[in-house]
Amino acid sequence: MLSIESGAHDPLHRPKLLLVDDDEVSLMLIAAALRDRGFDVTEACSGDRALQLLSERSPDAVVLDAMMPGRDGFEVCRMLRATPGHEHLPVLMLTGLDDNASITRAFEAGATDFFVKSHQWSLLAGRLHYLLRASQTRQELERSKAKLARAQDLARMGSFDWRRGHDDVTGTFMLSPEGLRVFGMPPHGVLSMRQLLRMVPEAERQGLARILRDVLRTSSVLATDVPVTVVDGRQRIVHVEAEPEFDETGHCFGYTGIVQDVTDRRAAEDRIRHLANFDALSGLPNRRQLMWRAERALEAARRSGHQVALLMIDIDRFKVINDTLGHAAGDDLLVEVARRLRACVRHSDQVMEGTLESQGSRSHRSLEAVGRLGGDEFVALLPEVSSEADAERVAQRMLDATREPIFVGGQECFVTASVGIAMFPRDGASVADLMRNSDVAMYSVKSAGRNAQALYTPHLSGRGREKLELESALHKAIERDELVLHYQPKIDVRAARMVGVEALMRWNRNGTLVPPGDFIPLAEETGLIVPLSEWAVREAARQAKAWQVSFGFADSVAVNLPNRLFERSDLVEHIHQAVSTYGVPHRAIQLEITETGLMRDLQNVIPSLHRLNEIGVEISIDDFGTGYSSLAYLTTLPISEVKIDRGFVRDLGITPQSSAVVTAIIALARSLGLRVVAEGVENLRQMEVLHRLGCGVMQGYLFSRPIPPDDLEAWLRNTILPRRAPWIGQAGALEAAEAARAQTLGG
Ligand code: C2E
Ligand code: CA
Ligand code: CA
Repeated sequence: MLSIESGAHDPLHRPKLLLVDDDEVSLMLIAAALRDRGFDVTEACSGDRALQLLSERSPDAVVLDAMMPGRDGFEVCRMLRATPGHEHLPVLMLTGLDDNASITRAFEAGATDFFVKSHQWSLLAGRLHYLLRASQTRQELERSKAKLARAQDLARMGSFDWRRGHDDVTGTFMLSPEGLRVFGMPPHGVLSMRQLLRMVPEAERQGLARILRDVLRTSSVLATDVPVTVVDGRQRIVHVEAEPEFDETGHCFGYTGIVQDVTDRRAAEDRIRHLANFDALSGLPNRRQLMWRAERALEAARRSGHQVALLMIDIDRFKVINDTLGHAAGDDLLVEVARRLRACVRHSDQVMEGTLESQGSRSHRSLEAVGRLGGDEFVALLPEVSSEADAERVAQRMLDATREPIFVGGQECFVTASVGIAMFPRDGASVADLMRNSDVAMYSVKSAGRNAQALYTPHLSGRGREKLELESALHKAIERDELVLHYQPKIDVRAARMVGVEALMRWNRNGTLVPPGDFIPLAEETGLIVPLSEWAVREAARQAKAWQVSFGFADSVAVNLPNRLFERSDLVEHIHQAVSTYGVPHRAIQLEITETGLMRDLQNVIPSLHRLNEIGVEISIDDFGTGYSSLAYLTTLPISEVKIDRGFVRDLGITPQSSAVVTAIIALARSLGLRVVAEGVENLRQMEVLHRLGCGVMQGYLFSRPIPPDDLEAWLRNTILPRRAPWIGQAGALEAAEAARAQTLGG
């Protein structure tokens, strides 16, 4: 059996994937990421090509982009399902955005699951492994079901013959020896119709008698499953099938048919049904089952006019836990959280869909459920609440339950969750609306600091949607080439020379340049920061090469990286690849990490710093002075540069503390042999003070704003080369004054 652990590493069992995406870059990226994770990937760049490859390659699963020109993913999925032999092929639909409309469409088209397009490849790979595992279990069950039927044909099936008597319910009843065995009787025993009826549990007996009467009255075919308690006390389900027999006058004089013990087959069918409706990891109802229950709950609520509550529960910072502890521990954690959440609703026993269906109009309250939508997202359905306070109470129980420490991966974890609540009918008339609005409410909790609950209110919707839109647009920004780097020179003031540049990201969104402060935080929150930063490194390397060719640029480009990138073991490899792709030396790339970021994860970051240092990539500590770095650490870290935070530079000559801090930083850096860069230098006064305190390299609007790459050469030509800028004269004057002073002192 394929398991997450072995499946990913066993080269002999590389699951075959058919990956379909019209976007070549995206296709390449996803394919590479999945190959890395042990899949054998065939790429198709259109729906038609995919349908063609389907029969040639017979993949184990299909990963299908929803949005494609021409035949889109939904249509391809529908066509694939209609192809014989592919009814059960796992299809994972890649949607652009976690919006319920396309998710619902995906399921309607027959997709097995969906995945919101992102660069969280490990999540995608994990999801695929689960799909494959479920599909394999399903196949095995299907096979055993067929085998079982064959076996039963031989061993557990018998025939019977019934002749009408004067009393319709009894008559003459004859069972073959095999038939007798089905009911636990010896081969030559006798079983009357009355005895047989007594084997049927009392609750079902009336119903069965009614069916038999109807069949007899109309002389129609009988086919039904009957639960029985056979002679030795075992509970079995017996399938009965019989055809009427007629005499010459057209009068029905009896029935002949078969009885078959289908208990095991039923169990197998139940298991198959279970797989389709329940999440393999947590055992909770899955999205499909949840939607089904929610639909039923709304129907009932519409009929009787009561309220329904839908709670969206999302674990806070689950990604961090998953990344730090590993996927196995992450899974354990989800299972434990699932168990706790489930215990927070009254009907914590989860009734199967089939059982529910047969219960018909029985209490809609049994629809109550906690389900898992995927990832770390759970939903609770409360089919009848008298007010929102009921829902809030359940939400509070859930928050309390998750907060208790959880022991996984050999350590104690503290987990919190955010819960959003939407009420029917107030907050939405359909399941889709309620899901969306509970999600919006949940998002509002996240942005207000997590670990709490919130009710949906219409004014949230605007904000939530905006954020969702921003997020999805940002997802596409890389693919669409909407990100740009602007560059700000670093100046050696004394020599009036440029010694490097810093790359600062901008997002060209519909013609306006969005500053990084408006999207980097969201990118950090969603994990998009990883592909964003990887892009920045590549782009900086490419630009360094372009400048080298056009005007002999030989300095370094500093790229800002968040600490989580330094925690990644593949950072060094990534930078190495970027520079070798464009043929620039390693030192062409410099990396800036903020002091706070560095200190937050010092232990995880240090190994990367050392490796980067070894290959010649210099590290600069950004926003220095704002964090709490211990000086002792600094002496041991392989760093080359500290950048004095803009805030101190701004206050230079205004508050005495700022010049004290700046003086201390400069002295410290000098004693450690580090370069000091002052950033945010806007005027000559600041430049003078810094210069006097011994800081040689500066950056700021005084010299140049961050500019597009094509403007750099012109800036050099118009400013630096002709030595034509107010600050250059000033720097020269400083130099002269200093020399003069030195001379006076010396002479
Ligand atoms: P930072 O690394 O401290 O970058 C310096 C910021 O100061 C830049 O803002 C720059 O435009 C601005 N600046 C430069 N000289 C002056 C000056 O004389 N006066 C004033 N008032 N400001 C000056 P920007 O470009 O808006 O970037 C803001 C922050 O966004 C950056 O702070 C950095 O933390 C982050 N950021 C920018 N690009 C990237 C990136 O590619 N990746 C990551 N992770 N973060 C980035
Ligand atoms: Ca910076
Ligand atoms: Ca900075």
